[in-house]
Amino acid sequence: MRIRKENDFLSMFDEETGRYLRTGIIRDGKDTGEDPFMSSFPELLDVGIMGHCKHGKSGLCMKAGIECYQDGLHAEMPNMRLQDFKELVGQCRGKTYQFALGGCGDPDQHEAFEEILRLCRDAGIVPNFTTSGFGMTEHIAKLCKKYCGAVAVSWYRSEYTINAIELLKKAKVKTNIHYVLSKNTVAEALQRIKEHSFPKGINAIVFLLHKPVGLGSYANMIRQDNEEFQDLIKYIASEVFGYKVGFDSCTVPALLRHSGKIDPDSLDTCEGARWSAYITPDMKMLPCSFDNQEQKWAVDLRAYSVEEAWNSEVFDDFRNQFRRACPGCPERRRCMGGCPIRSEIVLCGRRETPSPTTTSYHP
Ligand code: SF4
Ligand code: SF4
Repeated sequence: MRIRKENDFLSMFDEETGRYLRTGIIRDGKDTGEDPFMSSFPELLDVGIMGHCKHGKSGLCMKAGIECYQDGLHAEMPNMRLQDFKELVGQCRGKTYQFALGGCGDPDQHEAFEEILRLCRDAGIVPNFTTSGFGMTEHIAKLCKKYCGAVAVSWYRSEYTINAIELLKKAKVKTNIHYVLSKNTVAEALQRIKEHSFPKGINAIVFLLHKPVGLGSYANMIRQDNEEFQDLIKYIASEVFGYKVGFDSCTVPALLRHSGKIDPDSLDTCEGARWSAYITPDMKMLPCSFDNQEQKWAVDLRAYSVEEAWNSEVFDDFRNQFRRACPGCPERRRCMGGCPIRSEIVLCGRRETPSPTTTSYHP
């Protein structure tokens, strides 16, 4: 168990189970129950070790019904250099709990994948990653068991998807499914969850909201009035499954609106620049990986340290959107205005304006 003592709160992370606990703000030795706004250093870093996708050029994701937010069709960047990764690990040792390995392409196909996993564990950082499963082998699954906290397989609805899940389960890896929810995939999600037809023996399904970033089209976005999406949330809230079900924090505004039996205390809004950040393969630090195309909030880690980037004006500008969004909304405390990068995915039905800098709400 690792414990971080911040100025006025504590956070704890169990490397074995992945359990995470954070106190409220502590005053005069008592937990006030008030949520702290941010940590003094990122607790989780999404590290984009992949600069290009070897399957992307053939449109693997598009054929599977997923529009890659990293634009795998066109990305040409080299993968992150091992030397750069080592530098990051050095800076994060004893501070960051987890690395989510990612970028454009399957992290398990990085030329130094095993070394990357080993470096993480040696520094007490738990590595996790998401893969299409296309290149999964028995050897990779064993490495995952040895080093990773959990591995997610993107739901590409293909033979290789099932094969990867089976290989990981056989190696006794905590295996999740990441399911991108878009206009085109929400009906299948509803049907599968009702029919219990996702593979058995997985740890969790995490639904990720489709965003219009990279190859992600506006046409495929879920809109406010999508009834299948609302039915899915309601169904999940009212049923018990043989696995856990979660949503990314980008979905929180929609969950607050259609919460039904969901305990609002189980929801936590966007963590970008407050608890987590993304690092590109060429060492730029951004508040969230969904800023990877425009890089509006980028800090160059070749010029600044992770800590300096975290404390930079650029990151604070991003945080200001959470501080200032939607004054007066009764859900403000839980939601903070939703996504600062793509206001179109904020599905609360209250936020009025498309610009995250001028948000207001109507009840
Ligand atoms: S109005 Fe703003 S704070 Fe309220 S639910 Fe919508 S996005 Fe969240
Ligand atoms: S910045 Fe937007 S896309 Fe990124 S985690 Fe937050 S809500 Fe999601």
